[in-house]
Amino acid sequence: MESTPKILLIYTGGTIGMVRDYPSGTLRAFDFKNLLQQIPELRQLECDIHSVAFANPLDSSNMDLQHWRQLARLIAEHYGRFDGFVVLHGSDTMSYTASALSFMLEDLAKPVILTGSQLPIGDLRTDAKENLITTIQLAALQDKDGPVIREVCLYFEYKLYRGNRTLKVNTEHFEAFASPNYPELAVSGVHLNVHRDRLWKSQRKGGLKVHTELENRIGVLKLFPGMHPDWVCPVLENQQLRGLVLETFGAGNAPTAAWLLEALEAAVKRGMHIVNVTQCAGGSVLMGRYETSSGLRDIPLIDGRDITTEAALAKLMYLLGAGVAPRSFKTIFETSLRGELTEN
Ligand code: ASP
Repeated sequence: MESTPKILLIYTGGTIGMVRDYPSGTLRAFDFKNLLQQIPELRQLECDIHSVAFANPLDSSNMDLQHWRQLARLIAEHYGRFDGFVVLHGSDTMSYTASALSFMLEDLAKPVILTGSQLPIGDLRTDAKENLITTIQLAALQDKDGPVIREVCLYFEYKLYRGNRTLKVNTEHFEAFASPNYPELAVSGVHLNVHRDRLWKSQRKGGLKVHTELENRIGVLKLFPGMHPDWVCPVLENQQLRGLVLETFGAGNAPTAAWLLEALEAAVKRGMHIVNVTQCAGGSVLMGRYETSSGLRDIPLIDGRDITTEAALAKLMYLLGAGVAPRSFKTIFETSLRGELTEN
């Protein structure tokens, strides 16, 4: 690699960009224009770092489609001039954003890595510096063919994950994320150990395609023992709803009550795309393994296999936004498009 990698940092908001004012203890936004002054360690990285911040940085609980579009457009706009992108984001909805970006950015040939922190960057015990520095290093990794990482990832507490495989699992620990169904892409220890065999390899060669049409008339319905039809049926009868993630028990099981199966079947017949996703953090749906899932398979529901709820929602938004025809919707959903599920 001859030239110094150029990295664009995009600050959307969240704890990572906060500094504490002492002695009052209040948090205020960090000035990203003075990034190198505030984190002089960044000078030791052999990269050319530029930064841009959202005009109104937000707590990630306020993330919405407009912000995902803004992010995708920012990356597209700067795609030719940078070798890698680091998105600083609040941890609360980081897995949702990572999942959404993975579908919005098709045929990505450069890294887009999201990171954040549990403690503000100005705190003594902060996890922000390690997260930020290692993420930049990972985004800058190059070999003779260009960037090593060519997908949307999430880096947190010494681990790099495929973004659309992650979920936030802890509000307290520095290890706040997990990827139960796909192993880490890289681990940062004494050495930065990248598992190249696990990285996403896009099949097609072509330029980046950015998809900003997303459909959000979708929902999540989590099953629980003792559910009342008065709660479930209106959701399934909602004429506006175009897609639903049904969070089922264990390996994709649900009560065999006739009212539930009939309501699900009627919704599917009317054109609602319903995905069976397990509410367990790890493992896969296996429709037909138990009697309690045969009815769902026969309706048929879309088999979400080992996809996360976060990625299933993003995939529904993306495929519905792309206007995929109803007759091919199930097959396309059940195909891995960005490494978000394990195919049979
Ligand atoms: N509530 C914050 C956010 O998600 C927490 C964090 O920054 O990690 O924006």
